[in-house]
Amino acid sequence: MLNFCMPVKVISGEDSVKKNAVLLKEFGKKALLVTGAESAKRCGAFQDVTEALESQGISWVLFDGICENPLLSACREAGMKASEAGAEFIFGIGGGSPMDAAKAVSVFAANPGISEEDFYDKKWNCKPLPIVLAGTTAGTGSEVTDVSVLTDSKAKKHSIHDPLLYAKLSFGDPRYTASMPLRVTLSTGIDVLAHSAESYFSKKANEISRAASIGSISLLYAPLMKAAKGDDLTISDREKLYEASILGGLAISVTGTCFPHNMGYYLTENFRVPHGMACAVFLPDLFTWVREAVPDCAGEFYERLGIPEDALLSLIAAALPAIPVRLTDEEISAILPRWENNNSVKNTVGEVSTEKIREILLKHFLM
Ligand code: NAP
Ligand code: ZN
Repeated sequence: MLNFCMPVKVISGEDSVKKNAVLLKEFGKKALLVTGAESAKRCGAFQDVTEALESQGISWVLFDGICENPLLSACREAGMKASEAGAEFIFGIGGGSPMDAAKAVSVFAANPGISEEDFYDKKWNCKPLPIVLAGTTAGTGSEVTDVSVLTDSKAKKHSIHDPLLYAKLSFGDPRYTASMPLRVTLSTGIDVLAHSAESYFSKKANEISRAASIGSISLLYAPLMKAAKGDDLTISDREKLYEASILGGLAISVTGTCFPHNMGYYLTENFRVPHGMACAVFLPDLFTWVREAVPDCAGEFYERLGIPEDALLSLIAAALPAIPVRLTDEEISAILPRWENNNSVKNTVGEVSTEKIREILLKHFLM
């Protein structure tokens, strides 16, 4: 059975923003640009986007206050700015953080002043503004998902998803990713592996999402291994990583993620481990789990992929630095309720018990 929706127009490749500037016309005469502090300018995307907007007679204002693991409060502030400036659409430029933020900003711009609770409960009186994105990392696939992951006022990461949060148009010029430091290339690349593997092992996987997962990992395996070994990436390697990230985003837009992502949020919130690396800590546990609990599904995955489990484990080991988190038995017991009745845990094939999660936490972190 298929259950699949992909309403985003995606254009990737060299100079994709410049070459398609005319497509921006339909979104209005004024845009709010949403970026992080520096990288959008450093990688060339900001210049391409502003030139493209200006070439179509579209004016813009900038909000560049989005940090990693974007704060809901910053999105509210940016929404206010968009509303005061009379922006008709939101253009997010950056990695997953500014792109996810742009989705929330589009809600706040149309509904200035709504509370955090009403935002998460989707009590939006007015339709979010149209969203356009330009990705600068090869990672989250936020370009093609209706998901926005934000940090709330209690410093907890929550994802919200709604079909109104799909971008109308997403660009991806792989040249933008060339300025990523190695640490960011590895963390975002391993996030792609996590999306694609978790999606494959989701209870909601179907033939579309599985094809996207397999295609994604096949594309990323060689260039990511190259990066993990410290070799320089060519533009063709970067294109493969970028396209793999879009396929991974497509896969999770059908299925959502499984327990590694949700467990990774804990490491990011409490120990500031970058998102992709935080999730990848638990990927070997997912592989072990499916091999033991649902061997047919695991066997089919490796057969279709043509890459054995050992090779994927070697890739993770090469890309992932040591994560020096140590917890006591009592601390592990105290955080365990987070994963009771948790959607990402329940989404994983087989029935992952809270006791299994405890076993995984003890294995990684017990002092
Ligand atoms: P990010 O948080 O957007 O950026 C990480 C760092 O990389 C920042 O310091 C950023 O700098 C820098 N950077 C970005 N692009 C760069 C470039 N081209 N050159 C140099 N530096 C660059 O990283 P991300 O991994 O792409 O996004 C992670 C976020 O996405 C997390 O919050 C995660 O929860 C979320 N996520 C969303 C989805 C979804 O479906 N929506 C899926 C998975 C994860 P600046 O701050 O200066 O920009
Ligand atoms: Zn992710």
